[in-house]
Amino acid sequence: MTLQLQTQVSLKPFNTFGVDVRAQVFAQAHSDADVREALAYAAEQALPLLVIGGGSNLLLTADIPALVLRMATRGIRLLSDDGSRVVVEAEAGETWHPFVQWTLEQGLCGLENLSLIPGTVGAAPMQNIGAYGVEIKDVFVGLTALDRQTGELRDFTLAECNFDYRDSLFKHEPGRWLILRVRFALSRAEHLHLEYGPVRQWLTEQGISHPTASDVSHAICSIRNEKLPDPAVLGNAGSFFKNPLVAAAIVAELKAEYPDLVAYPQADGRIKLAAGWLIERAGWKGFREADAGVHRLQALVLVNYGAATGLELLNLAQRIQKDIAERFKVQLEMEPNQY
Ligand code: FAD
Ligand code: NAP
Repeated sequence: MTLQLQTQVSLKPFNTFGVDVRAQVFAQAHSDADVREALAYAAEQALPLLVIGGGSNLLLTADIPALVLRMATRGIRLLSDDGSRVVVEAEAGETWHPFVQWTLEQGLCGLENLSLIPGTVGAAPMQNIGAYGVEIKDVFVGLTALDRQTGELRDFTLAECNFDYRDSLFKHEPGRWLILRVRFALSRAEHLHLEYGPVRQWLTEQGISHPTASDVSHAICSIRNEKLPDPAVLGNAGSFFKNPLVAAAIVAELKAEYPDLVAYPQADGRIKLAAGWLIERAGWKGFREADAGVHRLQALVLVNYGAATGLELLNLAQRIQKDIAERFKVQLEMEPNQY
């Protein structure tokens, strides 16, 4: 038995909100064998199993009466390389940003816009992580998951994952698939995505007219560092709400009242509203009650100033949801996974 089981462990260091709840049992998986051992232990003890990675998309509202298994498996390998297209596989426990940096050091393009997203490789498919105009589905080729119901391994193709905006099959079958490793097809040629937000402007200001993928990564790290709170300094889980996708007719009505409404038409005809704009417009930016608050620079980010509980953060989120629904007739959906 290699799995180290601990009881009554504080999860404060294991969730970026820094919420202090306890796991009934806690362990870290360093191999597939550890994962299987954890599953067997949970079954034997009739304990639920909660798998986590970096804890950067969690809202923990109470002690967790479960075995909390933190994925800590490591390993990155090249599976194929035809000189232009390179397939790379990484273990679930690899930390996302160092993995992105590793691909850039190998001269591989594709993940640069996703630089500095916290968390692990294994959690990235859960909500099809995205930023600055790129989502992992754009470079994803497959993953291997353990079916917790049958104990069998299953390989998923891109089509089978049902990726959508911050969504996937795995979000809809919670507790079934334990993602072990993920595969990405990256490119030796540089097809850069520069049109989103202030990326090109940042590059121009640095005098970079022919950027490389590494330059884009630097641009995005710099932009993110300026705007987003560092969870090591101020607890948060990134964007707390998804940007709502709404019908064009609703946007037309809102535009009549709010001509500066921020809205982005999507390929499917719906329109994406910037949830941060709605929350800021409703006056919540910088709001604080006890230690739960709304970040002063980015209204989409809820923050824990120190001792906020998960329930206090949830309560604040629900008040914001209600207010936005009343003012704008738009329902905001929470992004972090709540336990
Ligand atoms: P966790 O929070 O540990 O888990 C998230 C969910 O995945 C849970 O339901 C958990 O049970 C499940 N899970 C974790 N690992 C596995 C596994 N191996 N198999 C099966 N299920 C698993 N997200 C974006 O999309 N874009 C961004 O730009 C972005 N920026 C962020 C910035 C900040 C400052 C923060 C704090 C968060 C940000 N996020 C962003 C959200 C978050 O970083 C991502 O969703 C990330 O992929 C979560 O990874 P994690 O390892 O921390 O997952
Ligand atoms: P931002 O640049 O201030 O933009 C505000 C919103 O408008 C974003 O949420 C983005 O939607 C949308 N947007 C901006 N430019 C767009 C364009 N050209 N086309 C379509 N939509 C556009 O956003 P930000 O908060 O600083 O974040 C920058 C990027 O990092 C965004 O992609 C954001 O999703 C990502 N991010 C995500 C998290 C998270 O936890 N999920 C946390 C921090 C940052 P999208 O969000 O749909 O891209």
